[in-house]
Amino acid sequence: MKPEEAIEELNHELLILECLIEEVNSFICDCDVDDDEYDDEKEQCEISLTRYKKEKEVIEMAISALKEIQQYREIGTVEECREAVEKQKPKAPKDSLKIKPVIDENGAYVDADVTVYLLCPNCGEMVGIDENVDKFCHECGQAIDENLEGREDGA
Ligand SMILES: [Zn+2]
Repeated sequence: MKPEEAIEELNHELLILECLIEEVNSFICDCDVDDDEYDDEKEQCEISLTRYKKEKEVIEMAISALKEIQQYREIGTVEECREAVEKQKPKAPKDSLKIKPVIDENGAYVDADVTVYLLCPNCGEMVGIDENVDKFCHECGQAIDENLEGREDGA
């Protein structure tokens, strides 16, 4: 059973209890005239009333607890929250070298054009080229450490 289904059931129970409370209340009011023969019945009603009110309180509490559970489910599981927190901590991007040989008009090898592709350490998506790096991975939201200075070469 889902929380919303349980809430619906409990709301139904709550409605019944409210009707009962109202009924018993009006009966007690009717008994207010000093009439001895009603005394026993009135006492029973008051006992019932106390019980109904307590039950109502319990149901209301259960409903609000279930609503809280619903809210937490909307936010996400504990693991999802932990994962989100982890992603807030900047991590150094992984780099991947792309070497393109530079060939002159005579077809001779001149130089190698090296481009550093910076990749998200979490999902591998490209987060930058050479020294230009994004603050966050647009794919998974991982925070990327922009300070590339202290990074070990070839790391
Ligand atoms: Zn990513």
